[in-house]
Amino acid sequence: MQQLERECRDTEKVKRVQVEDANMMTFMKAQQACCLSVDDIVNIFQTNPHYGLDDGEVRNRRVVHGFNDFEISKETPLWKKYLEQFNNPLILLLLGSAVVSIFMRQFDDAVSITVAIVIVSTVAFVQEYRSEKSLEALTKLVPPKCHCLRNGKVETFLARDLVPGDIVYLSIGDRVPADLRLFEAIDLAIDESSFTGETDPRTKNTAPLKNSPGNGVSDMQCIAFMGTLTRCGRGKGIVIGIGENSQFGEIFKMMQEEEAPKTPLQKSMDILGKQLSFYSFCIIGLIMFLGWLQGRKLLDMFTIGVSLAVAAIPEGLPIVVTVTLALGVMKMAKRKAIVKKLPTVETLGCVTVICSDKTGTLTKNEMTVTCIYSSDNQFAEVSGVGYNGSGEVISNGQKVEGDSHPSLSKVIEVGCICNNAEICEDGLHGQPTEGALLAVALKMNLHNLRYLYIRLEETPFNSETKYMSVRCTPRYGQSQEQIYFVKGAIEKILPRSTFYLDDGSPMPFREKQKEIYINEAAKMGTSGLRVLAMAYGAEMSSLVFVGMVGIIDPPRPVVRESIRMLMSGGVHVKMLTGDSEETAKAIGSRLGLYAVGSNALSGEQIENMDVSELRRRINNVAIFYRTTPRHKLKIVKALQLNGQVVGMTGDGVNDAVALKSADIGISMGRSGTDVSKEASDMILVDDDFSVILSAIEEGKAIFYNIRNFVQFQLSTSIAALSLITLSTVMKLPNPLNAMQILWINIIMDGPPAQSLGVEPVDHDIVQQPPRKVKDPIITRPFIIKVLISAFIIVAGTLWVFWREMSDNKITPRDTTMTFTCFVFFDMFNALSCRSQTKSIFQVGFFTNKMFLFAVGGSIIGQLLVIYFPPLQAVFQTEALHVSDFVFLIGLTSSVFLVSEVRKFIQRVLEQRQKLKSEYSYLPV
Ligand code: ATP
Repeated sequence: MQQLERECRDTEKVKRVQVEDANMMTFMKAQQACCLSVDDIVNIFQTNPHYGLDDGEVRNRRVVHGFNDFEISKETPLWKKYLEQFNNPLILLLLGSAVVSIFMRQFDDAVSITVAIVIVSTVAFVQEYRSEKSLEALTKLVPPKCHCLRNGKVETFLARDLVPGDIVYLSIGDRVPADLRLFEAIDLAIDESSFTGETDPRTKNTAPLKNSPGNGVSDMQCIAFMGTLTRCGRGKGIVIGIGENSQFGEIFKMMQEEEAPKTPLQKSMDILGKQLSFYSFCIIGLIMFLGWLQGRKLLDMFTIGVSLAVAAIPEGLPIVVTVTLALGVMKMAKRKAIVKKLPTVETLGCVTVICSDKTGTLTKNEMTVTCIYSSDNQFAEVSGVGYNGSGEVISNGQKVEGDSHPSLSKVIEVGCICNNAEICEDGLHGQPTEGALLAVALKMNLHNLRYLYIRLEETPFNSETKYMSVRCTPRYGQSQEQIYFVKGAIEKILPRSTFYLDDGSPMPFREKQKEIYINEAAKMGTSGLRVLAMAYGAEMSSLVFVGMVGIIDPPRPVVRESIRMLMSGGVHVKMLTGDSEETAKAIGSRLGLYAVGSNALSGEQIENMDVSELRRRINNVAIFYRTTPRHKLKIVKALQLNGQVVGMTGDGVNDAVALKSADIGISMGRSGTDVSKEASDMILVDDDFSVILSAIEEGKAIFYNIRNFVQFQLSTSIAALSLITLSTVMKLPNPLNAMQILWINIIMDGPPAQSLGVEPVDHDIVQQPPRKVKDPIITRPFIIKVLISAFIIVAGTLWVFWREMSDNKITPRDTTMTFTCFVFFDMFNALSCRSQTKSIFQVGFFTNKMFLFAVGGSIIGQLLVIYFPPLQAVFQTEALHVSDFVFLIGLTSSVFLVSEVRKFIQRVLEQRQKLKSEYSYLPV
């Protein structure tokens, strides 16, 4: 008794606190809200569960509470980030050498080194900043949405626009957009595993708690927490906490800030970078040791050594890889495919099989009823498209309207009562299949059929059961009778039917009659229609069958071509559908996936097969019909065991497991549930299958682009190292000074390298088979190419140096010529790295604008370094003659010409190989 009193006092206290808070219209902790009744919450938040807030009120509350999102922790100021660039051992060593130069009164050197360091650090800073910004943009690509009652209307908008007191509607598959105090919960179960680790969804209700719950989430059954997922049923709730003021605001913030894991490519680039650093250090150590033995100036050797370390170590490599991947993701987003994590971009190029849902992905999901068949054998054709009343229903040349054909009307009546969709001024709200039924009713002049009954219970449609039923009682008249109205796949409806409607009266079924209906449904299916059967009755086990409708869902226009392109690029496409065999095959053959005599498997067959048998058969099957989400998982597993890399589409709550286990889970932006989006790696904004093709193209192209710039960076790096090593070994003076080496580093790590990463998609690469997941970037032919380029650059530059030095005295002109020669070699090298096999004339000079700007910029920079006096002082250069340039361009283009010849030979050999393998198929 005492305890009860105490509890009541506690609750009273909470109420008082909150009523005081209400004046400030603040948020409320879930622990408090769950002890209060819905009325209290309505009062405190001054809202209306049946009307919601109005726009003015929302604006006021927004001023007080801001948006429903998280402020990422205060960013480090830019100047600090910039200074961080200098916190690098090599840069510090270089700065050290500048200081030593001052002590040795070599002021020129000190200034030059400092200016060069500033330029190098600035370029690195800009690069890193860009990479950060593009990664940041990725997190903003999929803003969550919510369904909310405002101004008396249910609206869908971004979850960040919610304010406390808003009324939120939850349905199966939705992510909870803010902390909610529930006031309606129908079969509602919510997955709170992200916070509690508990995988079973929690059932929710609306009753307030008697005791204060402490911090345990699981006790608060009348609260839905932000970020959790609706697994079952539906509900409504009042927003009590948003953004950082939600129960898990802090955890959320941590999750948002979590760094994305590195992709395999990024990791291998890190390893490559480390290996190169190690070798570079060894070689630099050797150079310095040799220089010391030869009695060269120690400080000079030290500065050169460190600059060389800065230049030879491709510290920009991982950054360029990240930026390239991130830019690829942004490019895909423009083409309406949102990739959630960077590793997905790489996997996309390796995908060998795409398993796609039919409805909405391969087809438009614009459902139109084209025919009605009633149980007493009447048939009507329906004209007109769209979710409206334009069009006619004609049976035997007569217009079907109102009650002119009662048995045909009955089919539509059942379809409209057992229906949750609504056709409003702004279009259809609800499932397209149901909208199609409402549209026929309008065409038949049948209005408000659903309102003739009061709904007592609903068993919603799902792709597992393949039917929907409602239990109703008439709204008008004396009758208290309860009737079930059912619609669904014919295999699900006929077994439950013991009667059929004949001329208005229920007649007991004979087996033969059922066969007639099954044949009729098969006929509709063969012409590509989805078949939906209708029945009603007092009991679910003894229904009266009334007929069926055929619904057309036309294939998306470019899907057939996309499938053909995917197949020619070595990617198999499989169609998975819940529809019947006939419908699946008809649509499959329209899309080029199925030819008479090819294999198809049903959900039931998959169910009865063990994995090893499925593995044996699955590669040759492109059509899977009457499947449910459960079968998807089995299909993914079997394909993966066969060594395939699988992309799987899905939109429903039950698809989440299959989406997670596929190598790339693909969810639907429009029709997909938040649960499926959460589980997927990529989201198709418009649910359009053909976008998968673009994403795969992009994924393949990115890998090749990354390989191209790695080739460029490696050859430059090796060339710079070898040049200095050789000249030291040959007892020549240093051909490049420290500042010049640093300048070369900018070109190598900077814009020209970056621009190779954004080379446009090469459509011939797309036609190549998917890459093997374990294929390394660095292969033997790749190394040979790198070494050939490096050799030409070193040989050419050394020759120029030797030629210029014939007077045995090193002058600024000598180093300027050598330096410019190296830079021009590098520009031509970059040009040849734009493609591994294609001539520049096939690729096109002007197809990569970024490249033109980057190379153009580098050349202008080089000219400034040679002709602009202040820079001349820094880089110790001298103006060159036009004839020098002509000579240098002639010489340095050799690296490009040799690579063109190599590519030509490679193309001829490949062509021969191809012809040979084609001839080997011909009979002798
Ligand atoms: P997908 O191809 O994307 O897997 P689907 O539309 O082919 O989807 P389901 O949605 O599972 O497959 O539909 C399977 C069958 O269930 C349909 O052929 C139809 O007979 C029936 N059906 C579809 N929607 C409804 C609904 N809203 N109510 C009742 N039955 C439905």
